[in-house]
Amino acid sequence: ELKCRIRIGERILNLERRILELANTDMLTGLLNRRAFMEKIRQEISRTQREKRPLSLIMADIDHFKRINDAYGHQAGDLVLKRFAEQLTASTRPYDFTGRYGGEEFIVCLPGTGRSGAGSIAERIRRQTEDMEIMLPDESGPIRITASFGTASHEEGPRVDVDLLIKRADEALYRAKRGGRNRVCGTRNDED
Ligand code: GH3
Ligand code: MG
Ligand code: MG
Repeated sequence: ELKCRIRIGERILNLERRILELANTDMLTGLLNRRAFMEKIRQEISRTQREKRPLSLIMADIDHFKRINDAYGHQAGDLVLKRFAEQLTASTRPYDFTGRYGGEEFIVCLPGTGRSGAGSIAERIRRQTEDMEIMLPDESGPIRITASFGTASHEEGPRVDVDLLIKRADEALYRAKRGGRNRVCGTRNDED
């Protein structure tokens, strides 16, 4: 009877774990989905605020991604998204976290990192992205991609507004796109 109850308990715990994983994960890339990212960043912001540490965001978007789908097919596009996601995780530290924000748009949170740090990390990811060679299963390729990046940082001062920080990263990303893509743009000084 006891053994039986323990087994049932274990099954419930495993199911609970699995449900949480499914609810929080983007199934293609294994990164946090947008909802889970937003939940985590809100927790992280209250912590960094309490500890008076900076926090930065990098918003990344693959350049002309639609062309990759058009030229190689949607499955190849999916593989590119996976590789890019792996690159983002590999290029950041274990306590940074990354989410898939939209189709080919990703967001990285860098707790404890200020503006200049965020700029260099984004620049490093940008370089590693353009150096990537993505082989397809049929051994065609390699596909090469570039991505554009926008950073926004909170260094000190009043409460951090998550939505505003994301908006600033998004605006910076837009400037990187307009400026010719494959580049990093940060927050302008007059916005601090
Ligand atoms: P830009 O340089 O301005 O960012 O151009 P872009 O082509 O990357 O941007 P656009 O927003 O025009 O196209 C994004 C494309 O991403 C369109 C959509 O079909 C594709 N996409 C979104 N989600 C997925 C996905 O899960 N898998 C694949 N293969 N493609 C996706
Ligand atoms: Mg794009
Ligand atoms: Mg996009």
